[in-house]
Amino acid sequence: MSRVRFEGVAKEYGPVVALQPLDLDIREGEFLTLLGPSGCGKTTTLRLIAGLITPTRGRLYLGDDEVSLLPPEKRNVGMVFQDYALFPHMTIRDNIAFGLVERGGLDKAAIGRRVSELLELVSLPGVEARYPSQLSGGQQQRIAVARAVAFAPKVLLLDEPLGALDLKLRESMQVELRRIQQELSITTVAVTHDQTEAMNMSDRIAIMNHGVLEQIGTADEIYDRPKTRYVADFVGQISFLPARVSARDGEWTVVESMGRTRRGRGDATATLGRDVALALRPERLRVVADGTVPAGNDSLSGTVTGVRFIGSRHIVTVDAGDGVLVVAEMSRNEPPCDPGTRATVCWNPADAIVLAQ
Ligand code: ATP
Repeated sequence: MSRVRFEGVAKEYGPVVALQPLDLDIREGEFLTLLGPSGCGKTTTLRLIAGLITPTRGRLYLGDDEVSLLPPEKRNVGMVFQDYALFPHMTIRDNIAFGLVERGGLDKAAIGRRVSELLELVSLPGVEARYPSQLSGGQQQRIAVARAVAFAPKVLLLDEPLGALDLKLRESMQVELRRIQQELSITTVAVTHDQTEAMNMSDRIAIMNHGVLEQIGTADEIYDRPKTRYVADFVGQISFLPARVSARDGEWTVVESMGRTRRGRGDATATLGRDVALALRPERLRVVADGTVPAGNDSLSGTVTGVRFIGSRHIVTVDAGDGVLVVAEMSRNEPPCDPGTRATVCWNPADAIVLAQ
């Protein structure tokens, strides 16, 4: 396992900037996921580490070695793709052993032992003689992982590794991938556009937008303390109230928003008079039908426009006027509200996030 370091690494394809100059330090043994919408530069970042493409500018390090221009076969990096890419005409043993045989240095018996060891690791002992078509999609993906780590690579790269699997299987494979990664303590970089997957597997998540790294942090940091409106919007549900900064009060930012003075945390850089958004996560909101606002809470009144039941909770949408819709989650134990009725949404100001527009 190795640390991976980007120093001002950029990638351009003619006029297309796939990756703006990126500084990124991926720790030894860390599981980092690159998350973002299509075209944001995730795959480009992964392919740069693999050596499948070379940077237009900057330096890339694996451990202490600069590898910016090194071909893929000299980097000692393992890769798993969405479509398994197992060789259909080869047995599972031969699939896993493929890289080991190519590299040489191990006799047949040692290769056999290593294959068995790897099959134990991915919880599929005894399938050596089968062919890929005789395994399920999830099992094939485990074999792809076993093959990728067979030669103890410095870094494991996962390109949408669970994208082809159905939701239930994907969830169990997320746990499985994380277990394997921790057992091997292998530095791992994954690409996904599935935020739940990123949150389930990663030590840290890097959110990308148009070739720029917007924020990097743990799942909690990204969710609870997004630095930009883009990040707040991309990860989880959130409602935005228009606001303007009117004062600073210690760690609080005081804003004028929808006819009232309100407070929130975050964006200490926003200057007085600046237009910002006051961002509210649905599970931090309470909806009260009778207008009784808990002491110390901020609130906003409006008309309930929708109530959806999603199994464990109700999702309530409140139209607060001026085109502002606020989405709140209600537990099933709370008194329900009905579409068309007036309601008040309340929150603790400490849960309101101030974000520059
Ligand atoms: P997806 O989730 O769809 O795979 P991504 O976030 O992985 O998207 P990249 O594949 O990294 O995005 O692409 C980033 C940008 O670079 C896109 O605008 C893409 O069109 C462009 N790009 C990628 N590869 C090439 C190429 N070979 N030639 C020209 N432009 C490219």
